[in-house]
Amino acid sequence: MEKILEVNDLHVTFSTFGGTVQAVRGVSFDLHKGETLAIVGESGCGKSVTSNAIMRLIPDPPGKISNGTIEFKGKDLTQFSQKAMRSIRGVDISMIFQDPMTALNPTLTIGTQLVEGLMEHRKTSRAEAKERALEMMNLVGIPNPEERFKQYPHQFSGGMRQRIVIAIALICEPELLIADEPTTALDVTIQAQILELFETIQEQTGVSIILITHDLGVVAKIADRIVVMYAGKIIEEGTRKEIFYHPEHPYTKGLLKSVPRLDIKGANLIPIDGTPPDLFSPPQGCPFTARCSMAMEVCDKVYPLQTELSDTHKVDCWLQDDRAEQLVAQAADKT
Ligand code: SF4
Ligand code: MG
Repeated sequence: MEKILEVNDLHVTFSTFGGTVQAVRGVSFDLHKGETLAIVGESGCGKSVTSNAIMRLIPDPPGKISNGTIEFKGKDLTQFSQKAMRSIRGVDISMIFQDPMTALNPTLTIGTQLVEGLMEHRKTSRAEAKERALEMMNLVGIPNPEERFKQYPHQFSGGMRQRIVIAIALICEPELLIADEPTTALDVTIQAQILELFETIQEQTGVSIILITHDLGVVAKIADRIVVMYAGKIIEEGTRKEIFYHPEHPYTKGLLKSVPRLDIKGANLIPIDGTPPDLFSPPQGCPFTARCSMAMEVCDKVYPLQTELSDTHKVDCWLQDDRAEQLVAQAADKT
């Protein structure tokens, strides 16, 4: 399958009065055409920062992409000017956020907001743009598009507003859609409907999707592959099956126990004790050491090398690596 996005060794830092926060620390992943990749982790793990970096929406200063490349269709976005990025955002790559209300302009009809992008970026006539907007409203499941076209955001429910945001994001036919917690503000039934909508849209348009979420339950149904982030790093990645049925990183296992699962009814939810490390001075070893019940001597001393469990399943954990014992022995020899 054709690669549409390739992120390589991405580092993002933020300068503050207290020092430099290393929010993203060497993240690499790729995305294929028509694929849905989920980036999962607790708040502060760097998942939103990663997606904002792809969109070049990191405010500089205080933020900075300090290293790495972000290749979109073979071109490194980190080298693009903000002007060049403006012609890509909403056109080739679209992004939707948690709160649909902030994404919509309350003073304009949703029709105006739908046709705007098309007329500006695709130089479409108003009549053609309207026709296309009505098609999109149909696709995202808004009843009576003709009538709804003339209404304002406040006249729609939360779920319908998110559908409109999705329609706006897709109207210029982007090849990549990044959705950051798109269902978090919605109630459970609407959440399920919106997730189904992503599936339908992908089937019909072939768009590639990056879904950012703290909730593994959300991705269970629609993600092809899952990347798990912790303390600014990807600590495990695999296909949906690999992550759900054969998780190997203790953090991934913890996440799975701490989120409601649709496939295990009545399972007890066990939160992960402790908090992630301070990213002003990230630990040199495994950042999960302080919270990990399996931690060994080597863990807080050396960052685990990546172990490839399959072509698609990779994990950064000493438990999966025979070299751990050797390293502990070496460290002991030196003392
Ligand atoms: Fe736990 Fe060590 Fe694996 Fe980190 S490397 S997750 S501390 S066992
Ligand atoms: Mg976030």
